[in-house]
Amino acid sequence: MNRRGELDVIVVGAGVVGAATALALVQEGFDVALIEARPPPEWNAQDEVDPRVVALAPDAMFLLDELGVWSQITAARACGFRRMRVWDALAAGELAFDAAERGESALGWIVENHLLQHVLWKALSESAGRSGAVRLVCPAEVSSIENGSEIVTVNLADGTRLRSRLLVAADGVSSPIRSQLGIGTRDRDYGQRAIVCHVGTDRPHESTAWQRFQPGGPLALLPLQDGRCSIVWSVQTNEAARLLALDDVQFQAELGCAFDFRLGAIISTTQRFAFPLKMRLAERYVERRTVLIGDAAHAVHPLAGQGLNLGLRDVRNLRSQLLRGKSREGDPGAAHVLRRYERERRSENAVAANTFSVIERVFNSESTVIAGLRGIALGLANRLPTFKRVLGDSAAGRL
Ligand SMILES: Cc1cc2nc3c(=O)[nH]c(=O)nc-3n(C[C@H](O)[C@H](O)[C@H](O)COP(=O)(O)OP(=O)(O)OC[C@H]3O[C@@H](n4cnc5c(N)ncnc54)[C@H](O)[C@@H]3O)c2cc1C
Repeated sequence: MNRRGELDVIVVGAGVVGAATALALVQEGFDVALIEARPPPEWNAQDEVDPRVVALAPDAMFLLDELGVWSQITAARACGFRRMRVWDALAAGELAFDAAERGESALGWIVENHLLQHVLWKALSESAGRSGAVRLVCPAEVSSIENGSEIVTVNLADGTRLRSRLLVAADGVSSPIRSQLGIGTRDRDYGQRAIVCHVGTDRPHESTAWQRFQPGGPLALLPLQDGRCSIVWSVQTNEAARLLALDDVQFQAELGCAFDFRLGAIISTTQRFAFPLKMRLAERYVERRTVLIGDAAHAVHPLAGQGLNLGLRDVRNLRSQLLRGKSREGDPGAAHVLRRYERERRSENAVAANTFSVIERVFNSESTVIAGLRGIALGLANRLPTFKRVLGDSAAGRL
C-alpha cells in the first residue's frame, strides 16, 4: 500500500480464478486486496468428495505449480486421467486419446473445486507479509465501485472503502461489477441443466475420462481417485427435473443405460445437484481501471471441461501484462496494459465458447444425416494423428 493508502490491485471474488489471480500478483510483489462474499470452503481428506469437480488441463497444472500449490493438491486428492474416449449414441465412430501417444503421463487431472479454493486461500494467508502484501477481506460484499481516471474506489456493504490502481472482477457468471460497469453480454441459454454426482461402477474406470454424446446433451464420467466416477450429465431442463426426482436405484438404472453400460452397471450414487447451462460472453473485458476475468468474462458449456482452464489462462496472461506494465510505467491499471490482455484473451475465449456451442448443436441433432456425418467425422478424426494432436494440444492449452 502506498503512502496515500492505495493498493496496486483489488480482486473481487475468491473463486478459483480470483484467488489464483490474487496469489499470482502477490507473488510478483503487487499489494493486493481480495474481497469475497462467502467464507472460503473448508476441505478435509475424510469428507465426501466435493460434488463440483473440474478436469484441469496441463497448462492449468503448470500455473498451479508455479503458484506453489500443485503438490498440495496431488498430496490431498486428485486423479490424473491417461485416456479419453468420446462416442456418439446415434452413430458409429469413436475418438480416443491416450497420454502415452503424446509421451505424457496424464491428459489432465480431476480435482475438487473446494480443494482448489482451499489451497489457494491457504497459500494467500501464508503469503501475507512476504513478497507483496495481501489483505483478505471476507466475508464482505461489494456494494458499488467508482472507477476514476487514476484510482478505483470499491465501497463495501459495511461502509469500508478500498482504493487501488486496478480492479479485477472475478465475481463469476452473474458478475455484479460487470453489470455496474454497463458491460453487456452475448448469451445463449442451452435450455439444459448439468446433473452432477459421484457414482460407483461395476468395472474400474481405467483412469479414463469418458464422454457419450446423446440427443438432449452429453454425458461425461470422470475418474475419481477413490475408484468412483464423477458425472456431468447435461439434459433438457424438464428432463433434469425428472432425473432429480428419481430414487437412487431408478437413477442408477437410467444412468447405466445412458452410458451404454461401458463400465457395467452403476452400483451407487451420491446426492445429485443440477446447474443451469448457458454461454455468456462479455462484450468487452476492460473499462477504465477495471478488467473482467474468468466466468465474469466468459461462461461456456461444460462439454469440453474448459471453463476454468480458460479462466486460468486469463490469470497467466493478466499477470504477464501487469508485470510488463509495472516495469515500464509502474502502473498496473494503465489502459494500454489492460487492452493487451483483452486483445489476447477475448478472441481465444470467444472462439472456444462458440466452438463448444457448435459441437453442442451438432451432437444434439437427431437427424440421421447429421448423425451419419458425426460418425464419419469421429472415425476420421481418430485416424488422423496430426488432427488428433492439434485437438489434444488445444485442449491442453498448448496452442
Ligand atoms: C457442471 C459444470 C462442470 C464444469 N466442469 C468443468 C471442467 O471440467 N473443467 C473446467 O475447466 N471448467 C469446468 N466448469 C466451469 C468452471 O466451474 C467455472 O468456469 C469456474 O468455476 C469459474 O470460476 P470463477 O472463479 O471465474 O467464478 P466463480 O467460481 O463463480 O467465483 C466467483 C466468486 O465471486 C464471489 N462474488 C460474487 N459477487 C461478489 C461480490 N459482490 N462481492 C464479493 N464477492 C463476490 C462469489 O461468492 C464467488 O466465490 C464446469 C462448470 C459446470 C457448471
